[in-house]
Amino acid sequence: MSHVLTLNAGSSSLKFGLFATTETDPNEMCAGLVDRIGSDDGTIKLKDAEGAVLAQTGPQPIANHAEAVQSALTMIEASVPGAKVTAVGHRVVHGGVDFDAPMVVDDAVLAKLDRLSPFAPLHQPHNLAGIRAAQAAFVDAVQIACFDTAFHRNHPFVNDTFALPMRYYEKGVRRYGFHGLSYDYIAGHMADAFPDLHDGRVVVAHLGNGASMCGMRAGQSVCSTMGFSALDGLPMGTRSGQLDPGVLLYLMEQEQMSASEISDLLYKQSGLLGLSGLSNDMRRLEASGTDAAERAIAYFTFRIRHELGALAAVLGGLDAVVFTGGIGENSRRVRAEVCNGFGWMGLTFDDAANAEDATEISTAGSVVKALVIPTNEELVIARAAAAAAAA
Ligand code: ADP
Repeated sequence: MSHVLTLNAGSSSLKFGLFATTETDPNEMCAGLVDRIGSDDGTIKLKDAEGAVLAQTGPQPIANHAEAVQSALTMIEASVPGAKVTAVGHRVVHGGVDFDAPMVVDDAVLAKLDRLSPFAPLHQPHNLAGIRAAQAAFVDAVQIACFDTAFHRNHPFVNDTFALPMRYYEKGVRRYGFHGLSYDYIAGHMADAFPDLHDGRVVVAHLGNGASMCGMRAGQSVCSTMGFSALDGLPMGTRSGQLDPGVLLYLMEQEQMSASEISDLLYKQSGLLGLSGLSNDMRRLEASGTDAAERAIAYFTFRIRHELGALAAVLGGLDAVVFTGGIGENSRRVRAEVCNGFGWMGLTFDDAANAEDATEISTAGSVVKALVIPTNEELVIARAAAAAAAA
């Protein structure tokens, strides 16, 4: 039996998963996290598919992504002896204009991906460091890049552009959309489990620490709330979401903030954390009950309803809304506050089903269906890696 490894390299963390490749879907054997890369108190943890801890080490120094990949590998080898990795699948945030499907990474592809780093400076260099580390650690394995942008590459021009002079569009200043691996998984799952809805007009709300929504027709992305960067659209744990560009001018001209200060403000200090002053974590906000927490939740659900209405208009109506991501899969309150605002569109919410965390949280007679579907981005990467290994 051979195996595929999935890697999701962030700025200071590396998520990894080992899958056995079978004739059907890759089968997850274990998954882990290397945390606090670049510090003296890094940690590594590996769990089996049921979530039981198989091994953990640290705090210990983990200098860089190459060391992180090596540490992950050492832990996998100790816990799953004899694993034979034939392909490594990587989550890569940006595939630019050209990449609309997973790509086998060779030197030319890597050079193209390097050139996209200015479009996602906080993520792309770390993703590519993960690829380079895996190339060194698995010299015989195929490396596959799976892009967060790829699922959205066939948007019509009006959903792909800003109203700037066209030279910026030509340079790549476009609305790319992100979270594509999650949307790809949901579209595939719906084709199997809800084929009629899949063929219709669906809005998927991926609500986690990062959050976005995607309007799909027949399983294809038509519109995303995220744009040029992963900052646009919904407010997130610490990211602002949609902002009037005049605010940026104010921050630069009146508050004399530098680009890096603004970046820190928009990516790390805003969203649920900024509004509440308490936490970026929805569980903590829901438990808090303070006015500050309530206003953050109210803005979050307001923006989701706002975008749901807009996406439904783009799609020419709505057959289903799907909730996924940590908040979408778990927050009964957020789901209720969003869906209860859509009775006018034909969505009749089923409180009892929502309280039981059922898959279908609209009533049997509801014209617009509301569903909860847990996402699985790692499986999408593992499938691409398994397919490349078999090719
Ligand atoms: P990431 O984007 O980092 O993958 P997740 O998809 O894991 O994030 O989502 C994390 C978010 O999900 C956090 O805000 C967390 O509080 C929220 N969450 C997880 N479980 C619950 C729950 N039971 N109720 C409300 N929110 C939850």
